[in-house]
Amino acid sequence: MKAEIVAVGTEILVGDIVNTNAQFLSRELFALGIDMYYQTVAGDNPSRLSEAIRLAFSRADLVIFSGGLGPTDDDLTKETVAAFFDVPLLFHEEIFAEIKSYLKGPCPESNKKQAMIPQGAIVLHNSRGTAPGVILEAQGKIAVLLPGPPRELLPMFTEQVVPYLRSKSDASMYARTLRLFGIGEARLGEELSDLMENANPSLAPYAKDNEVTLRIAAKAGTEQEAKALIHDMEQKVMKRVGAFVYGYDEQDMKTTVAGLLMEKQLTIACAESCTAGLLTAALGSVPGVSAVLSESVVTYSNEAKMKYLGVSEKTLAAHGAVSEETAAEMACGIRKAAGADIGVSVTGIAGPDGGTAEKPVGLVYVGVCYRGHVTVTKLRLKGERDKVRSAAVMHALAAVRRRILDIE
Ligand code: ATP
Repeated sequence: MKAEIVAVGTEILVGDIVNTNAQFLSRELFALGIDMYYQTVAGDNPSRLSEAIRLAFSRADLVIFSGGLGPTDDDLTKETVAAFFDVPLLFHEEIFAEIKSYLKGPCPESNKKQAMIPQGAIVLHNSRGTAPGVILEAQGKIAVLLPGPPRELLPMFTEQVVPYLRSKSDASMYARTLRLFGIGEARLGEELSDLMENANPSLAPYAKDNEVTLRIAAKAGTEQEAKALIHDMEQKVMKRVGAFVYGYDEQDMKTTVAGLLMEKQLTIACAESCTAGLLTAALGSVPGVSAVLSESVVTYSNEAKMKYLGVSEKTLAAHGAVSEETAAEMACGIRKAAGADIGVSVTGIAGPDGGTAEKPVGLVYVGVCYRGHVTVTKLRLKGERDKVRSAAVMHALAAVRRRILDIE
């Protein structure tokens, strides 16, 4: 089965809202093993919407529409799709009763429009809004019409459309995403070039902010078969680039590190200069981290580094605030002050000013003090201020992970 998505709404075309419904639906269709090659956005204009519908059904068996099911005159999706298939719209007393009970108060006459359903269509009930969805099977094609608001569309799709589509599809798709740090997309591509020629399972690398992800996707008759295909491919991938893999699927670096700290019952404290709390905020966003995150300080000035972390005046004078020596003293200083198992520090030049020939913008040191010794990583990060700061956080987390797992 080939599918397309048509998102309806001038708001999307003019950039007032982001088409998150299409992103959600794409992922869901992929998980169902349904191929999709095109997506369209059409404004609230009857002739252009008709053209989008005609084009979508000329290429696909299944078209999923989002939006344009409201009570106003510019909500046209149902009317235009019904006209395309030459199916009349009929008033449904029970649907109108549902709309009235949802509204609880007086029901405007315009809501009657929402109780008009294409003849023979399956109604998708909406407990979170007034617009019912619709599945219309006609002329060998399937049109699925969903309301625009994501809080209505998402549950309607997962609860009512997914079971319907499963009953129509004979393939199962399964995917697993490996998350890699410390290797670029190009090198990853080189390491896996022969494997990437494989069609099933397929390998797709994506460069993200500060990391690369590798999606392994397989299609098979059953989910179990698809998972087995992925397992075999993952083994091959791990043999070549396993040292860079730190997590899977939604498990990002902060979740990985917080999880490790919790699992090993290790407490951590952070001393941040150029990241000014971003590292602590990243760890703090993981639920349950309070069991292991003891305290953090932001020390921008030399005075603060001496006062709160015990960095020596001599070190600062001899090597400067952005140096291997200062990063080491910061990490050990915060570990001691907090009585934590691990002390981590970040000091660097985020830019755009403050760089010199010897210490350019993007020079960052990350220190990790653990088990009686401190390691410092020197980084030359690229990009503007915020990019340097977010990359520094990622490197600091990765350094903590390496120390906990004793990876070189
Ligand atoms: P309503 O009954 O609320 O009018 P509708 O089906 O007519 O529903 P629209 O009027 O097209 O939907 O959109 C309503 C709201 O839903 C938009 O203002 C927007 O906030 C959200 N929305 C619509 N389409 C999308 C989309 N593709 N992605 C994300 N949000 C969307």
